[in-house]
Amino acid sequence: MKIFKFGGGILRNKDDIFRLVSLLKKYENQKLIIVFSAFYKITSKFEDLLNIYFSENKFDWIVFNYIKNFHLNLIKSIFEIKDVEISINKIFKSIENDFKKGLSDNYHFEYDKIVSYGELLSSFIIAEYLKNQKFNCKYVDIRNVIITDSVHTEAKVNWDVSIKNIIKSCISDNFNFCVTQGFISSDKNGNATTLGREGSDFTASIIGFAVNAKEVVFWKEVNGIYNADPSEMPDCKLIPEMSYKEAVEQAYYGAKILHPKTIKPLQNKKIPIRVKSFYEGNEEGTRIIDISKFNSNFYPNIPIFIIKDNQILISISSKDFSFITEHNLVKIYSLLSKYLIKVNLMESSAISFSVCVTNDKFKIPKFINKLKSMFNVLFNKNLSLITIRHYNSESIKKMVNKKEVLIIQKSRHTARFVIK
Ligand code: ASP
Ligand code: MG
Repeated sequence: MKIFKFGGGILRNKDDIFRLVSLLKKYENQKLIIVFSAFYKITSKFEDLLNIYFSENKFDWIVFNYIKNFHLNLIKSIFEIKDVEISINKIFKSIENDFKKGLSDNYHFEYDKIVSYGELLSSFIIAEYLKNQKFNCKYVDIRNVIITDSVHTEAKVNWDVSIKNIIKSCISDNFNFCVTQGFISSDKNGNATTLGREGSDFTASIIGFAVNAKEVVFWKEVNGIYNADPSEMPDCKLIPEMSYKEAVEQAYYGAKILHPKTIKPLQNKKIPIRVKSFYEGNEEGTRIIDISKFNSNFYPNIPIFIIKDNQILISISSKDFSFITEHNLVKIYSLLSKYLIKVNLMESSAISFSVCVTNDKFKIPKFINKLKSMFNVLFNKNLSLITIRHYNSESIKKMVNKKEVLIIQKSRHTARFVIK
């Protein structure tokens, strides 16, 4: 049994669906559990719909029609099955009705309910198309399977219950493929929850863990994992093999290739992970495995560059210029947790505390406003956070040469820079 995961970045249009089908033809007689994200940028569109509703108290027909037409046009371009079109129209009617009835004040609760439709739509359309193309497949609504707590938008998985459900629902002699959704789940009361943005990778990992998969394969727009983002550094190199530990570190520091929570469960069972190209299925890609044979937990030991743009550095000091104490930090951290803001880097001095975070246009203004009622707050926008794993003087020169550096942090394996 293998797990395949396909993300929204490679599910853009009908050609991608046709490519998917010809790729899956090669595995027709194997047992696969296939995890899909929402189609290209659809999650962000659903977020827009929700954010406009919450900030301007209106239902944005333009955004809604964009999402609806995207799906309807896609169906029309791949097959002519009236029933599927009718089902999709029904789903959009129910989204419209949700908004018409009025959403509750609980943003995160409503977020999970609305944004989940992205994965439900993509997986349903693809499952119907695969059945139409004579694949022997079953469609599973993963919300009935992966059960979480009720921390909406960042839910924690109840592993025991979810593993039992996965084994019951996703494996059977009666079908070869099980088609399901990444990212979405539900709490014990049946309310929709989600596992965090880009969380479909994590779903594939949970399922891989549950069924003791032979391998979990992430099909991507790139050929595998490089030592930098190929779109930002054209001379970067493909890494054929990587240790779990190195992969965990890189994901933690913000390498875009896999969601940070993905690696650990698979590492625990030593299940190999493969990242490979959706476009050139013959390439080997990158294998993430237990590389004890190399005598290094952090293999490969070459400079690896991770760049996070759109960062904001927020410096917080007490209004009376007294020291920033544990008492102040508790207040700052509870606000970060309240607004679900992840700290990418922090630094403290005697009278100030700074956090570097992604400048989310909805969360950050609220956070800063609230902070200002308790502290003096200064901030710097449009920054980049550069992380270099296995740094040396040459790699540092390459990345930060002549740029204005606001913060430098170095440890044995990792150097980090906040730059303008
Ligand atoms: N569709 C979700 C997102 O874009 C989950 C995922 O793609 O992994 O964040
Ligand atoms: Mg995605």
